[in-house]
Amino acid sequence: MGEFELIRRYFFPIAEAGSTSAVLLGPGDDCAIQRVEPDRDLVFSVDALVEGVHFPLCYDPEKLGWRSLAVAASDLAAMGADPVCFTLALTLPDADPDWLHAYARGLANAARCFGLSLAGGDTTRGPLTLSLQVHGTVPNGQAIRRSGAKVGDYVCVSGTLGEAGAALNYLDSHNPGPDEQAVLARYHYPAPRLNIGVSLRGYASAAVDISDGLVADLGHILEASGVAACIDLAKLPLSAALERLAGPGAINLALNAGDDYELCITISPTAWESLSQDIRRRLTIIGKVESGEGLSITNDGQSQSLTAGGYDHFRT
Ligand code: ADP
Ligand code: MG
Repeated sequence: MGEFELIRRYFFPIAEAGSTSAVLLGPGDDCAIQRVEPDRDLVFSVDALVEGVHFPLCYDPEKLGWRSLAVAASDLAAMGADPVCFTLALTLPDADPDWLHAYARGLANAARCFGLSLAGGDTTRGPLTLSLQVHGTVPNGQAIRRSGAKVGDYVCVSGTLGEAGAALNYLDSHNPGPDEQAVLARYHYPAPRLNIGVSLRGYASAAVDISDGLVADLGHILEASGVAACIDLAKLPLSAALERLAGPGAINLALNAGDDYELCITISPTAWESLSQDIRRRLTIIGKVESGEGLSITNDGQSQSLTAGGYDHFRT
């Protein structure tokens, strides 16, 4: 079977993954066609993953299939977009049918789970690189940007932080225990917070997905919005598995490690009160937006220096 036959067999079926009728033409022609209703904005982003840089050498292709779409879809979540479709540019060293089959299986699972149909792509030979462009839509003007944080807003995060970072220590474990398995799952199968993102449209003043660590990504909101923030270490949501594995190092992982793909948002106290219980339960208030610039940290109310022991590798 030739390379293109493999692509047709394994990838074209993923065109049916989403439920949307907005993709008028999927893979097979020179371009795909997406219909965008006049009352919606198209929200799109591309992510490239390079072997040895964004994922380990010889990484399990099924996990890579999931992960490559999950990290791209996380950007849609951060904008509050409804997922529609994606394209896939695959650069492969060779057309290994086992690899392609496993990669496509992971990708198809993710595509169905996130409601993203494969609309097209490109296939070339070279060092293993995956570029995925994701498309979503929002009602006109309602995408959640990084630049809308206001003084007095709460700073919140979804889920728990630091587990994907902890998992890096166990990627080569032959016999991981239950806690190791729990954090490894967070690294291998990130869950983009698409439902939370959509539910925050019209409520959150700013949002970002946490790909590079809370301090770095919240920093993007602060800079784009021209504000400062203070967060309390005691409020950081940590899983029991992470606390058992990392002990006091859990805080540092929650602040600085990447790959969690949770959302960090800002929201006014009034908007927070009007959020549904269900969404509020999935978010933790960790601090407040203030005037000025930069991030400051308290521990149970006591101010803590970002350069104090353990945190000296941050730059503010
Ligand atoms: P062109 O030369 O016109 O760019 P290609 O021969 O590269 O077209 O691709 C033919 C069709 O197969 C296109 O519709 C393209 O979207 C689809 N395609 C190619 N590679 C992939 C892929 N990795 N995943 C999904 N669709 C793909
Ligand atoms: Mg063409």
